[in-house]
Amino acid sequence: MSKELAQTARKRFGQNFLIDGSVIDAILSAVAARPQDHLIEIGPGHGAITEGLFASGADLTLIELDRDLIPGLLASFVTKAPDRCRLINQDVLTVDFSGLKGPVRVVGNLPYNISTPLLFKLLELGLKVKDIHVMLQQEVVKRICAEPGSSAYGRLGVMIQAVADVEPLIHVPPTAFAPAPKVESGVVRISPNAQKAARIEDMNSLQKLVRMAFAQRRKTLKNNLKEWPTPIPWDDWGVDPSARAETLAVETYVRLANALKREETH
Ligand code: SAM
Repeated sequence: MSKELAQTARKRFGQNFLIDGSVIDAILSAVAARPQDHLIEIGPGHGAITEGLFASGADLTLIELDRDLIPGLLASFVTKAPDRCRLINQDVLTVDFSGLKGPVRVVGNLPYNISTPLLFKLLELGLKVKDIHVMLQQEVVKRICAEPGSSAYGRLGVMIQAVADVEPLIHVPPTAFAPAPKVESGVVRISPNAQKAARIEDMNSLQKLVRMAFAQRRKTLKNNLKEWPTPIPWDDWGVDPSARAETLAVETYVRLANALKREETH
């Protein structure tokens, strides 16, 4: 079976199908779906994770891009419980979630090339998303969960941790998939946090500040932010301009972005 999966997998859809039962069980235990949940699974593939999600009795929306996988998913899940299970044959990045009622729980073993834009698309939905359990490249999981001072700490971690709680859950070796990817993978839980999001006065300012601060990691904050449109009151901020971007806590970035936004609008 795994040989067959490996042979039919499409590289352009980032298909690496899970074949390790213990990893599938670990993901399902981490999600712990209940009948009252509204789940969205992205990229169900041949249904490795879908089966357990479906068995929980939860409401389940599947979003799969590869039309060759649609008949199998319809037969195994949708036709068995059409009142609580549906399938969208579309690129998840083009799905309009604006009408979503929420809160939904998102699960996915994602194609790695779409993982970052997808996470930002989901996080823009705020509390309509209760939590996200995703399999990503382990290196990306590390970046998402990184703490200040570590080499993995950067834009991705700051922007996600500014609005959500993050927790690395499971380390997954290449042998858990068919075909085996070249890199190690990991599952992370990302839970949008309303209190954190409420502290951000202007998301664009935060994005701009973090992008500029980390533009050249070896340079100081002062250097990276020298093109900022207004003078930066370093003393008022209580921040050392000769520090590097990776030393500042997420909360500090939020505080600074808010202060800069206020300066700009004065
Ligand atoms: N969940 C299955 C598993 O664990 O075995 C499949 C995982 S495979 C890494 C990624 C899945 O996402 C594939 O089924 C692929 O066709 C689908 N996919 C790829 N790009 C997608 C996109 N943009 N939107 C929705 N699904 C996508």
